[in-house]
Amino acid sequence: METLKIFLAGRWCEGRGEEMSSVFPADGSVNARLRAANVEDVNEAVAAAEKAWRDPSWRGLVPHQRAAILHRVSDLITEQVEELAQLQTRDNGKPLAETRGLVMSAAATARYFAAACEVLEGELPTQRNRDAMTLSQYQPLGVIAAITPWNSPIASEMQKVAPALAAGNAVVLKPAEATPLMALKLAELFEQAGLPAGLLSVLPGKGSVIGEALARHPLVKKISFTGGTSTGRHLAHIAAEKLIPTSLELGGKSPTIVLEDADLEQAARGICYGIFSSAGQACIAGSRLFVHRSLYQPLLTRLCELTAGLRIGNPLQAGVHLGPLISHKHRQSVADYVALAQQEGGRVLIGGEAPADPQLAQGSYYLPTIIEGLSNSARTCQEEIFGPVLVVLPFDDEQQLIEQANDSIYGLAAGIWSRDFARSMALAEQLETGTVWINTYKTFSISTPFGGFKQSGLGREKGLHGIQAYMQQKSLYLSLNNQPNCWSN
Ligand code: NAD
Repeated sequence: METLKIFLAGRWCEGRGEEMSSVFPADGSVNARLRAANVEDVNEAVAAAEKAWRDPSWRGLVPHQRAAILHRVSDLITEQVEELAQLQTRDNGKPLAETRGLVMSAAATARYFAAACEVLEGELPTQRNRDAMTLSQYQPLGVIAAITPWNSPIASEMQKVAPALAAGNAVVLKPAEATPLMALKLAELFEQAGLPAGLLSVLPGKGSVIGEALARHPLVKKISFTGGTSTGRHLAHIAAEKLIPTSLELGGKSPTIVLEDADLEQAARGICYGIFSSAGQACIAGSRLFVHRSLYQPLLTRLCELTAGLRIGNPLQAGVHLGPLISHKHRQSVADYVALAQQEGGRVLIGGEAPADPQLAQGSYYLPTIIEGLSNSARTCQEEIFGPVLVVLPFDDEQQLIEQANDSIYGLAAGIWSRDFARSMALAEQLETGTVWINTYKTFSISTPFGGFKQSGLGREKGLHGIQAYMQQKSLYLSLNNQPNCWSN
């Protein structure tokens, strides 16, 4: 078992906070121990970051030179996909097939933002004034606080660190309590790639202590947060007091919709993947299913068959579909929701308990679960469970369907299964969500903006917006007549 150090302003050192550990959720074994950061560490990291981003050795780099560092990081990741995937699987229990995908997506994200910083241009607005020419440039914001959750560390961390650095900022990253390993590994890779000291610090520790101190620090000029909606709202209050921008990627309760002309097999497989991959611990999990009554029974039968065939087990083994949940505490919260669904009138069609297999007894496993018989207003249909639990509701009328699908505080994603593309597009337009998948689910492209409507978030990550979100625009007026200003213009 390893003892880890934190990465503070270019130095590997022991944190000055409490002891913490990373635990393999499949069997409770400890992967590594470390001392968390404390508030003094936060202050030191932010002060160093402020100095580092202003330093001419960083500020003076042309985009091509910043891009070169990101390309090196991407290469380093690509050379060790397997080791990194194992590390992330140990940290949060996701099956290797999924963590490999996340690692490769992090490499692609670094490469994309390397390219984006090279091609990002200022603006030359239409010239409307004969006495002055105007230009508009993008400049970095300064020190960025990046705060991340435990469910997809390497991907969500790279989605913040790469664009923020590409834009010329410095970053202080606070990973989730449960998953410090990947963020510290990323620090190592950026160091190897030649990122100057101070531009990236990684400070594991409690959100309420380290995250809070970081967000409140006067030199932090943006909070980039991915996590739960209530934490996001709290951070938005802090940002409002400081008048600084935020990017908030928050929770979801995403509807998937099966129209009467859907390809049943394609829909059933997509729905199964959309809710049960990552054991449902995904902000975009398709956790509320609306099925046209004409397809309801056959689709549900097929969905239960597919669900029964999913392999649940050690996430380090090949062929496993569902690993454990992040912790026993989280499993209890999922189990409590299933009990609540039953009190609300729901019928559990499959799952609804921990697996009986004694080999899985040490891990925080929970069987993939399908529940019917609830109304959309039930708490289990409205609240984010963040586990392998699907609620299924039939519908008859498209207008009622749209009202129910939109009847949620969340608006992160939605899925539509239908052979009628024009009808799907018309329906997609009416869904109040930041992403809509048609005849697919959880498909991603780094060049396509991602973010939520309503209480699922503010701002967008990915795409060129993803780098502009870490910059501010400055407009310049250049006199064309060299005359003193007159009072009347
Ligand atoms: P969380 O909100 O509990 O924690 C997220 C991060 O915030 C952690 O690093 C935590 O330590 C920190 N934090 C907690 N309190 C804080 C405070 N007072 N000040 C500053 N930081 C604080 O969320 P979680 O349980 O780690 O993650 C699950 C949630 O994340 C789910 O709601 C899920 O939907 C959401 N999520 C959203 C996206 C997205 O892109 N929209 C992606 C992944 C996860």
